Amino acid sequence: MLLINDLQRHSVPLREKLDRAIARVMDSGWYVIGSEVEKFESEFADYCGVGYCSGVGNGTDALEISLRAVGVVSGDKVITVANAGMYSTVAINLVGAEPVYVDVDDVTMNVDLSCLKESLNSGIKAIIITHLYGRMVDVLKVKELADQFGVSVIEDCAQSHGAVLAERRAGSVGDIGCFSFYPTKNLGALGDGGAIITKNTELGGRVAALRQYGWEKKYMAAVSLGVNSRLDELQAAVLREKLPYLDEWNERRRRIARIYSERLGAARGIQVDAIDSSYVAHLYVIRVKNRAGLQAALAANDIASDVHFPLPDYRQPCMLDKCTGVKLDVTELCSQEVMTLPCFPELTDGEVNRVIDTILMFLDKE
Ligand SMILES: *Cc1c(COP(=O)(O)O)cnc(C)c1O
Repeated sequence: MLLINDLQRHSVPLREKLDRAIARVMDSGWYVIGSEVEKFESEFADYCGVGYCSGVGNGTDALEISLRAVGVVSGDKVITVANAGMYSTVAINLVGAEPVYVDVDDVTMNVDLSCLKESLNSGIKAIIITHLYGRMVDVLKVKELADQFGVSVIEDCAQSHGAVLAERRAGSVGDIGCFSFYPTKNLGALGDGGAIITKNTELGGRVAALRQYGWEKKYMAAVSLGVNSRLDELQAAVLREKLPYLDEWNERRRRIARIYSERLGAARGIQVDAIDSSYVAHLYVIRVKNRAGLQAALAANDIASDVHFPLPDYRQPCMLDKCTGVKLDVTELCSQEVMTLPCFPELTDGEVNRVIDTILMFLDKE
């Protein structure tokens, strides 16, 4: 079966490097927040062009801690989208705030800036901007709008490690940037992991305290509502071995996306988008009316596909009572039509073309 993201094919070429990194940590006798985490934090901050980075347990914790760091408390309102897999909603729920869902753009499937503008007022405390599928939102514009109302901007970069828009890396434009290093992400650990980046000294300090019991220093809890969410030394050591390859992997992902777009762009009933440095092809997503039919045709040819994501956040069972009456037209349509095709750096041109041939054959018969 050709997977949408084959992690075995991704890890095997790095086997010796990763073995050495793991042995280095084991032999050091220090396993939580030590020199590997500190070095990774500084290397990742440099890569993103910011001054501060704190490793955390996972991407959802990164969002929750960031909401707390910018001062979101129980009862506050936070703007987000409803087509991005529930992660921002979970974090908003964790701090007791209320999600305000805005619709997405029909082509990029990222937040629609005119809808965002309509929902923005001084009653909003923060905005979570998700760079979905690896495509960056114009955060500079969002920041400009948000600044007029004193609203904080949190970038969710869990699908956009390394994306660049107007010479700025994803995560470095808003007040704070959140990353997940879940194994399937563009930069993935061998388990859970996450990070929070910022240019702001005060926010950087607050995040560093919040992730570890609210400690300002050892056994001195100065910041309230601290949690325990730390990146392991083992995962940090693995991430340090992988970070130097990130740009190369993203370039390969874009090349795969370009082959798909060039050959599928003209196909009837399929919607695809342009490819540039602001897109790191975390997921290659098409829109298709007969999704179930196409998925079945691919499966019959041993090709996996998936749906990211089938249910808008406001339709999730746990959100129904809080979201009565919420219905966003483009979000609804996306949830019915989106479909993810295989895309990972080790995928060969031949394999991509086989996926495309299978799709074109199916469309021909339709
Ligand atoms: C994966 C993901 C997260 C959550 O990351 P975890 O490490 O799994 O908690 C958050 N936001 C988006 C957009 C993601 O894709």
